[in-house]
Amino acid sequence: MHKPDTPTILAVDDSPENLDLIRNILEPHYTVKVAPSGALALHIARSYQPDMVLLDIMLHDSDGYDVCRQLKASDKTRNIPVIFLTAKRSEADEVQGFKIGGCDYITKPFSPAIMLARIKTHIQLKAKTDLLEKLASLDGLTEIPNRRAFDTALERQFSQAQRTATPLSLLIMDIDYFKQYNDHYGHPMGDDCLRRVAKTLQALTHRPGDLVARLGGEEFAILLPNTDLAGAMLRASQYRAAIEELRIQHPLNEPTHFVTVSIGVGTTIPVAPLSQADLLEVTDNALYQAKKQGRNQICRINAPLIR
Ligand SMILES: [Mg+2]
Repeated sequence: MHKPDTPTILAVDDSPENLDLIRNILEPHYTVKVAPSGALALHIARSYQPDMVLLDIMLHDSDGYDVCRQLKASDKTRNIPVIFLTAKRSEADEVQGFKIGGCDYITKPFSPAIMLARIKTHIQLKAKTDLLEKLASLDGLTEIPNRRAFDTALERQFSQAQRTATPLSLLIMDIDYFKQYNDHYGHPMGDDCLRRVAKTLQALTHRPGDLVARLGGEEFAILLPNTDLAGAMLRASQYRAAIEELRIQHPLNEPTHFVTVSIGVGTTIPVAPLSQADLLEVTDNALYQAKKQGRNQICRINAPLIR
């Protein structure tokens, strides 16, 4: 049974008696999933993303080391801590378990109290690591994804688009005359403006896979997987209009006297040797064009291999 807000532990053992025993120990404290085989363990780990895997080493269909190796080889399951559970006792076995990415080793027969204590320690460590990871990918001022998170997402979406031959669109956006805004109103107001823009962009971005990030300064990027040029132009016009409609006073920004943005649009169905750097460059050039043509507008550039 799933208990909301309790960590989920996947217990893997080919002995039904052992699984029952483990379940009885863990269930008062955790949501428990069980798998009697390596194959099922991998399937459950991928689909349910448990917070920890308790992994028997001797399974009838495979060996626990191999299951661990496969968990560590995939982005989806790499960060799930694995505790080996085994009757093996040699030092070489334990070293082997740590080498391939296990975080601890519990030998059978085990004491329930010690098992619970070790699991608790590793669950707490994982929560801290997850939090650090999350903080490292967020922009401190606006609390939306930062440049680092954007780079990671762009790389992932670029290869995904290449594999599936689907269009990937990128918008790069810059607040018009933001330096003058800061000079006129001071940095605290400038920061407030950045936060409002970020919040507005994020509120308009709902599809899974879409990502809004602050690239730095007054520059934002929006990554739109599975979106062709027409779709990207439409989205860009919605973002542009939404920012103008915030009606944030900006007397030095002619002719609206409100905060506005310029947006560059780039779309590609990636084909070798095109790289994500090319998409970034083309989109950046489009933004430059939008600035040059008078700001508060959207531009796209037709480049070879970019469609
Ligand atoms: Mg076994």
